[in-house]
Amino acid sequence: MAWKCCVCDDSGWDDPQDVVWTDPADEKKGYCIFHAPAEQKGISDQEFQRLVFLRIDDVIEKKNGNQPNAMCVFYRAIFPGSITFSKYDENNPLPHISFLGAKFCNGVQFCDTAFSSDAIFTCATFVKRAIFINAKFHGKAWFGNATFRHVEELRGAEFFGAEFNGGASFRKTIFHGNALFSQATFCCKDVDFYNTEFHRFATFNEAKFNTLVRFQHVTFHGKSDFCGSNFSKAGNVHIEEMDDRSLKHLYFKLADLPIFTFETIHWPTRIGFDIYGESNVYNYQQCEELYRAMKKRADDEHDRRSVSAWHYREKLAGMKILLKVQKWLAALYNLIRLSCPLAVKAHSLPRFILYSIPVFLRCFFSLTFWYCLFSGFGEKVFRSGMWLVALLLLPFFMHSPAGEWLSSVLSPLWAAIPYSANIDTLAASIRDSVNATAAVGFIPFMKETTGPSAWLKVGQALWQGVIVLQFTLFALAVRNRFRR
Ligand SMILES: [Zn+2]
Repeated sequence: MAWKCCVCDDSGWDDPQDVVWTDPADEKKGYCIFHAPAEQKGISDQEFQRLVFLRIDDVIEKKNGNQPNAMCVFYRAIFPGSITFSKYDENNPLPHISFLGAKFCNGVQFCDTAFSSDAIFTCATFVKRAIFINAKFHGKAWFGNATFRHVEELRGAEFFGAEFNGGASFRKTIFHGNALFSQATFCCKDVDFYNTEFHRFATFNEAKFNTLVRFQHVTFHGKSDFCGSNFSKAGNVHIEEMDDRSLKHLYFKLADLPIFTFETIHWPTRIGFDIYGESNVYNYQQCEELYRAMKKRADDEHDRRSVSAWHYREKLAGMKILLKVQKWLAALYNLIRLSCPLAVKAHSLPRFILYSIPVFLRCFFSLTFWYCLFSGFGEKVFRSGMWLVALLLLPFFMHSPAGEWLSSVLSPLWAAIPYSANIDTLAASIRDSVNATAAVGFIPFMKETTGPSAWLKVGQALWQGVIVLQFTLFALAVRNRFRR
């Protein structure tokens, strides 16, 4: 009897294959054509592919004959070169097939391939591109513990337009490159992504979720696009136990929100659309609406803490619209740059000045900005408390030696500003005016005062007003923090 391959023996192949290569380090170990290392097979890639197809065709024949449960096994097989299974389409589908622990050393194509029964890729390794475009899985697709290593270009694991009709498992699957599930269809219950790692982009845009698809403990390291997904029932994409570092990559729009249900998660400050969306006013508005919808959802679920957090994000997105540099300014800057290229050689400073002045002015005259700065839209207890303390302490500071030192430093600076002397003269003319005494009469709780200190009293009253206002904001933040 011919010597049989050690891996075939260990893996329980029904038909252990003849040895074609022995390991020089261990003469007792012989390997067959399927299990020998890629560089030791001694045949061309075409010849290897022919042997693979022979094996598959043999099983298809058995299946069509008297063994409907026949299974094609490539357990721990090593595929050396590129291989394409596209000829096994709907008219001639692959039988129940197992690539358990197999290694594809080069590109592998299952474009338009049909799998009539379960397809087992558990623990398989895809070194290069793995293309499953428009593949049809009629049984369950098992990709648990599989590793997709290809990281170059835009591609990696491509399931574009694939149909998962019998469920799918991507438990602990690692996608080192991009994972493209755009326009894929998930039918039949039992589709799960558990502990799956997506190290680059994951695209599920325009995918059809016709069944509950669970994403539990999944790690997203890059943009995870769920835009334009279709679904037969709201809540078909269930996100569970995901940390904020992964959640921030979730990219979806307001229209996609009904597809999701969320459980035991802690949201980051910003989510995908806020991070990856283009920075234009339209997108900021979309973002604002998305956060508003998230707030409403949290409110419906009586999740008070989240309501507060989403409210803050919603207002912050609104602020971005305020801060956005307007188009006419960008056009003006470009005009300057084109007409005078030398002046803007080191272009960051003029641009910064040109852009920041209008932004500063818009902020200064915006109530929203001050509301954000002093109280975080009535949501930030610490921030509003600190401002309150600062406002209370500032008069003490200004009357301390440090304050005197500061005013001695500032007065020459003030004098250096053009026309400051004129302003001083104007101020002096009204400083000791009797009008101050009259003004005091209009301010609540002010005693009647006369003389040079009258204006000081007016200033004090205004300052007290500012402190009362800040105290109100602080009280509001405390109330929102503990009552919502
Ligand atoms: Zn073998």
